[in-house]
Amino acid sequence: MQILVTYFFNMIKLLEDTFNKIVEHSKEAYPHECCGVLAGKIEEGKKVVRVYRARNTNEERSCDRYSLDPSELLKIEKDAKAGGFDIIGIYHSHPDHPARPSTFDRERGWPEYSYIIVSVRGGRDTEVKSWTFAEKNEPFREEDIVVERG
Ligand SMILES: [Zn+2]
Repeated sequence: MQILVTYFFNMIKLLEDTFNKIVEHSKEAYPHECCGVLAGKIEEGKKVVRVYRARNTNEERSCDRYSLDPSELLKIEKDAKAGGFDIIGIYHSHPDHPARPSTFDRERGWPEYSYIIVSVRGGRDTEVKSWTFAEKNEPFREEDIVVERG
């Protein structure tokens, strides 16, 4: 049933404002990778209503990897829960690289989470894609991003 539901709702919805925040953060952080947390609800598909900027604690390889601070993540989760939301994914940027997950991204990915990746070329041109997987040994598959106005 879980897989069927995921299949039918192979998309993630974002409010326009939320979507813009992710893109802005990715441009600002260039040439480093930025990361953040997607909070929202899963009802008739995934919907992101809030984003949290997070610190990329990977200082050695901040140009091509990101790490989230677990205590920061916990704080974000508490705040999201207080607002009635769950953490439903993570976003991060790929400076001068395609918006496709790396092997490293896949190894550290959690099932059912959405991974929004923003490719930033030259600090300006962006491409945004979202990826998810259901089972532990499944590869990432792309999900459609639907940006809602309002
Ligand atoms: Zn990545």
